[in-house]
Amino acid sequence: MTSRLTIALLSGVASLVTLSACSTPAQSEETITEAAAITTDAPVLQAEAPAGQLPQGVRPTAYRLDVITDPNKASFTGHEEIDLALEKPHARIWLHALGPVVSSVKAVLPDGMEIAATFTGDQADGGVSRIDFDAPVPAGTATLVIEYSAPYNLQLAGLYKVEQAGKPYLVTQMEDIDARRMFPSFDEPRFKTPYTLTVTAPEGMEVAANGAEVSAAVLGDGTVRHSFATTRPIQSYLVALMVGPYDKMIGNPIPATDLRAEPVPLRAFAPAGKGEKLADILDVTAEIVDWQESYFDYPYPYGKLDLIAAADFAYGAMENAGAIVYREAAILIDDRTSLARRRAIYNTHAHELGHQWFGNLVTPAWWNDIWLNEAFATWISAKTMNAVDPEGEWNIAPINSNLYAMSLDHLASARQIQNPILTNGDIGDAFDGITYQKGGSVLNMFETFLGEDHFRDGIRLHMQRFQDGVATTEDFMQSLADGSGQPDIASSFSTFIAQPGIPYLDVQVSCNADTGAEMTVTQSRYAPLGSTIDTEAPQWKIPFAARVHDASGDHIMRKMLSDKTTTIALDTCPDWVMPNAGGAGYWRFVTDAKNAAALRASYASLSTGEQMMLTDSVNAGFSAGNTDAADLLAGLEAATTGASQAIGNSIGMIGTLKSMLDEAGKAKLADWVEKTYSPIWEYLSERPAPALSTSEQLLAPDVWDLLLEEGHRTDERTVMANRAKAYLGRQYTTIA
Ligand SMILES: [Zn+2]
Repeated sequence: MTSRLTIALLSGVASLVTLSACSTPAQSEETITEAAAITTDAPVLQAEAPAGQLPQGVRPTAYRLDVITDPNKASFTGHEEIDLALEKPHARIWLHALGPVVSSVKAVLPDGMEIAATFTGDQADGGVSRIDFDAPVPAGTATLVIEYSAPYNLQLAGLYKVEQAGKPYLVTQMEDIDARRMFPSFDEPRFKTPYTLTVTAPEGMEVAANGAEVSAAVLGDGTVRHSFATTRPIQSYLVALMVGPYDKMIGNPIPATDLRAEPVPLRAFAPAGKGEKLADILDVTAEIVDWQESYFDYPYPYGKLDLIAAADFAYGAMENAGAIVYREAAILIDDRTSLARRRAIYNTHAHELGHQWFGNLVTPAWWNDIWLNEAFATWISAKTMNAVDPEGEWNIAPINSNLYAMSLDHLASARQIQNPILTNGDIGDAFDGITYQKGGSVLNMFETFLGEDHFRDGIRLHMQRFQDGVATTEDFMQSLADGSGQPDIASSFSTFIAQPGIPYLDVQVSCNADTGAEMTVTQSRYAPLGSTIDTEAPQWKIPFAARVHDASGDHIMRKMLSDKTTTIALDTCPDWVMPNAGGAGYWRFVTDAKNAAALRASYASLSTGEQMMLTDSVNAGFSAGNTDAADLLAGLEAATTGASQAIGNSIGMIGTLKSMLDEAGKAKLADWVEKTYSPIWEYLSERPAPALSTSEQLLAPDVWDLLLEEGHRTDERTVMANRAKAYLGRQYTTIA
């Protein structure tokens, strides 16, 4: 899933239905006798509603869901069968339902015997509900049969309804815990089962779900009964359904490969009239899937692929197995789509496709490990785009993730990546920049430390070990250690995911005639000036990497730093040491004045990632009170000699300084902004876009924005303000 934008908090609908028994009393007694013969355990009857995970001992093994839908109406009906495996006899089971009104429920045993039951909804937050059986359901297997109706949700959760241009559309969004709004379910990621959907809908409407459509029967009453193939085992939050007057575009099937004998049928859907804007996303899909299959050494798992532009959507996109749903702005492309937006769309697409392996094929057992999904999808989307669009400068994306994550993680209130999730209410909190961007950055750091091939081997092993199943963080660490052949990596990894904060490295380089050249690295936790953070409390095991430049050239020096202070001997006295080689490390640093000056002077010879991380550390040093404003300005000026991305990052830091200045200081800052950034703007604005690199094109609006807001561009600012007023005036006129 990408980018939580809204959280819909809906009150549940309580359901309390008492049902007549379908089985005879004699049959029930017989059932109890049989159960007693199998086990002497007393029937399980947990009285208290679970606040977090459902009780152990009851596991769904398959869902068959038959729903009758019509987007023109306000509600739908469902016939549901859930196959269960019970470890012990149960007099009561707990599950989730938030909206479905149950009209009948019973258990059917393997011999056909039926046990009547009562459904009671809304027993705890999140639609925790219970089913009480008239007689205990024996240990072994049984099928729950549930008849229900439910309103279409109107707030973008579960099976929801939205209108666009006067036409009603249905689509689903289940993650994190909204499958329970569409059908009663054991709505937790650890329960992966096959799903078989049958959907009746008005004739003429497009209908799509996770599986391929295997038949469509015209019923003669103006409706069609669509039957979909049974899925591989998936968790409830991946169930997808779409019904409505969508435009349908058929893409070229994704060709068969050495890994996959069959082509993958590819389609895309958009609200009526917008289908043509799906052409670009259809075009890039095969290349992305092909690259990711090769990376994972595992064929795309879900048989067919539908891409669905929802008429309205709460997130960026959702990785439902075989039926990915997007907000329009995250998939539709036309000739007015900006370069930045187009890149965001491709990045989101690669993210959701990456989830088909990370998250869908291998799934976290519980929400505290959701970083395994989102950090990996964040990390692999940039890696994928870097491979399929080598001119696109995607290799900088992990550095941007690094910088964004650190802008959150420097706070005293920052949470750790792997966070305990104790209640249903905690789950949504896990979808944030720490999970996505810090998680992705940490993965990038360890991939860099282990080497791409070793890291990939660990991931491939993980896919093989846990395909169609669930895995914890500990499982992943073991796969990575075994696959990479580096068993020590887990203890380092866990210091980054099980505690919050940014390592802050004080790097002192010294050259002494007697002791030789050495670098001393002391770690603490980064804290801005005035923060309540205890900087000495945490300690990391840091996969440190520095670029050392001496008379013989550049060397990358790697060392695992486990101690508070580590002294590293250097071969010769270096010209400079960049204490974050490639910028891949998730840490900030401060260094001695001589090394800092040498780094500024050599700024243009650093890699783009190093330039960005150096400038961030200069800014962070100022915020921490370790360096003064002159150092910050010198650092920002050095950045203007670097790559476009480093210039872009430096622009974002000017606000730090401005916020501390009085009016006279702000006037001088405006002079400095003009002197420093006007030449860059002249360079960018005098050239047509095709003559600029991707990053230069992306930088141009940021530089112009800076000059308008912080420079002496009064006339231009007035022109822009008048344009904005005219635009807004037209908008209001249209509305009126
Ligand atoms: Zn995601």
